[in-house]
Amino acid sequence: MSAANYLLSDPSIVLYWKVKDPEKGLAIGSKAFGMPKTGPSDFVYTGTVPKDDLVRALHTDKYTSPSEHPNVSSERAHYEIVTAYGPVGVPPGMEVPMDGSIISTGAICFLPTSRGSVTLKSLDPQADPIIDPNFLATEHDWAILRSAMRTSMRVMNTDAAKELVEGQFQFPGYNIDINSTDEALNKRIMPFSSTWYHPAGTAAMGSVVDSECRVKGVKALRVVDASVLPHPLAAHYQGKSSNSCGHIDCMADTTTTSCYLCHRRARCRHDCGISLIVTQIFS
Ligand SMILES: Cc1cc2nc3c(=O)[nH]c(=O)nc-3n(C[C@H](O)[C@H](O)[C@H](O)COP(=O)(O)OP(=O)(O)OC[C@H]3O[C@@H](n4cnc5c(N)ncnc54)[C@H](O)[C@@H]3O)c2cc1C
Repeated sequence: MSAANYLLSDPSIVLYWKVKDPEKGLAIGSKAFGMPKTGPSDFVYTGTVPKDDLVRALHTDKYTSPSEHPNVSSERAHYEIVTAYGPVGVPPGMEVPMDGSIISTGAICFLPTSRGSVTLKSLDPQADPIIDPNFLATEHDWAILRSAMRTSMRVMNTDAAKELVEGQFQFPGYNIDINSTDEALNKRIMPFSSTWYHPAGTAAMGSVVDSECRVKGVKALRVVDASVLPHPLAAHYQGKSSNSCGHIDCMADTTTTSCYLCHRRARCRHDCGISLIVTQIFS
């Protein structure tokens, strides 16, 4: 695959939960529900998959030195779980009531190793390209989603959660619980996985553009958007792309601190006067 059509993107999976008392206003659809300032989601958790599980998955994916892979050689944030006050990302054809009785936990695989492609369909510049995200092409990515699902189920199985949550809202034929096997979780992921829309990598820095975002071999042309990210980030990409002041290390800097909940503005450390709107940054 050439560098120009190397596409990375984030697979995700959502689990749904029945609240004990819809009248309490915990979820959208209940008359008592009041939208929090943060919007319809809250309680964001960033998790790390047990190293052995990922090393095993990387071995299956035929990496020669799995334990040296950057996703396991140091502690990384492999996934994020967002709790939403309602049924989000309901798969096509499935019905999950929006009547105040359901909340959800959406899990995003942050550091996928699967790579897709963007290629031309024809020489007609007006023709849409062929976009193939090639989600879940590696065992590594499946292992991350399974781990995130298990974390969601473990949390919802705690005494504190059980005070509010009656149990999981299951899809018939795809029941899972905390003791489910990898195969059962895979079966639940397979038809119902989706994405939280963080495509990147198609004009990757180092191959398509240089470290100043200049397109290699072309004069006076820069790319300044998420496509220059050469590797997946443990983050939502709006903060990495729309906040760019033109200093590429602003986009690439995963240590910028900001508050996800209040979306407060940070300032570019180049002090060039441009405000950054950083929605969410995890290292
Ligand atoms: C539904 C959804 C929800 C998301 N939620 C979040 C979130 O909560 N937090 C977060 O951090 N990220 C979120 N993201 C991801 C984030 O929006 C993207 O990662 C980010 O916008 C990518 O920035 P970009 O500059 O690369 O591309 P874009 O923001 O898509 O910008 C591309 C721009 O180019 C313009 N354009 C396209 N073609 C042409 C053309 N031929 N000529 C001129 N202009 C053109 C488009 O109109 C657009 O304005 C979400 C994405 C989606 C789809």
